[in-house]
Amino acid sequence: MASIFTKIVNGEIPSYKIAENEKCYAFLDINPLAKGHTLVIPKEEIDYLFDIEDDLYKDLFAFGKKVAKAIETVVTCKRIGIAVLGLEVPHAHVHLIPINTIYDIDFKQPKLKFSEEEFKEIAAEISEAYEKLA
Ligand code: 5GP
Repeated sequence: MASIFTKIVNGEIPSYKIAENEKCYAFLDINPLAKGHTLVIPKEEIDYLFDIEDDLYKDLFAFGKKVAKAIETVVTCKRIGIAVLGLEVPHAHVHLIPINTIYDIDFKQPKLKFSEEEFKEIAAEISEAYEKLA
């Protein structure tokens, strides 16, 4: 059965899309640790990040780098933190999380709540910033 992220890539499940290229897709995490918390995934459904072949792996991180730069222009933070867990969804993904302290990337913290309008607005701002970087 297709992963929930494959369904997102295929448009069968909605997402707050940030950007995509031929091989990768970025969208807001629905349970964010911070405003702008984004997931970057390969479109191809591969469970484990470190099973991705080198070319796609490099493309994923190059794409993620540009997405991180876009997030930085929208969300005030010291850095974009990066995390890989993959314990919940068996489709490789990289978390990009705006952080100011090490505590901001603690997945035990309660997640933030945003309305649909707020999610849309955040995604649109980051997406616009991404397009300007192109
Ligand atoms: P992990 O597999 O890295 O432990 O966690 C999966 C992440 O995917 C979680 O942060 C969770 O909030 C996010 N997530 C799970 N299902 C969905 C979904 O349907 N849409 C979005 N946007 N994020 C999801």
